[in-house]
Amino acid sequence: MAKRKNRFNVGWLYPDLMNIYGDRGNILTLLRRAEWRGFDARAVELGRGAAPGMEDVDVFFFGGGQDREQALVYDDLIEIKQAPLEAAVADGAVMLAVCGGYQLLGHYYQTAEGERFPGIGLIDVRTEAGKKRFIGDVIVDSTIEGIDPPTLVGFENHSGRTYLGAGARPLGKVRLGSGNNGSDGSEGCLQGGVIGTYLHGSLLPKNPQLADYLLRRALSRRGMAELAPLDDSTELAAHARILQRAQPRAAER
Ligand code: GLN
Repeated sequence: MAKRKNRFNVGWLYPDLMNIYGDRGNILTLLRRAEWRGFDARAVELGRGAAPGMEDVDVFFFGGGQDREQALVYDDLIEIKQAPLEAAVADGAVMLAVCGGYQLLGHYYQTAEGERFPGIGLIDVRTEAGKKRFIGDVIVDSTIEGIDPPTLVGFENHSGRTYLGAGARPLGKVRLGSGNNGSDGSEGCLQGGVIGTYLHGSLLPKNPQLADYLLRRALSRRGMAELAPLDDSTELAAHARILQRAQPRAAER
């Protein structure tokens, strides 16, 4: 059945298991910002098991989760979701994945105990957990062209150290925080229409420019890349507040 022109679908992977540190706020932000542009925006919950309708999704969201939750979803991700996800992204759908979700889109996630959860290799990254968790505010200077402000702010809490292969480029450079692995200064990854990041918080309410980047990219396959401007004064004030609050620590780095 053809999707109605003004329908905008946000696909939410494992909402019951991969949803921590306010990740749900990303779904609300995408839905509201699409609605405020006149779309009939809906969340499509994609829990474990058969997931019809993935071909009609515009933006997928894959939230974070502790090792226990990742262990409960990686089989389903490989056996049921991988093929329709690859097809949808190849067809122009976009994906935002945070922390535990980001890790499982890569080649594998290995826990601190050495247990390896295979990923789907949608992005060229691999993750191995260390003993020490990276926890705290994060400020990133993003590599995405044209987004304003060019900074991204959020909160991280992870044991995984993620390393990018040649197929992926960093989402940005950390100004404050540990980011991907606490050593190479990179944060997140960009590969085609897929964005991976360690930024919880939730991310999009305080970074509306990134939310609109995802919406624009998803709508570009319908030839609709222009979005009506919104009054983001509240969102950007929250963004600026995090930058200001974190400034002294960023200066110490
Ligand atoms: N379990 C993973 C880790 O510890 C992801 C954690 C998360 O999603 N916040 O790195």
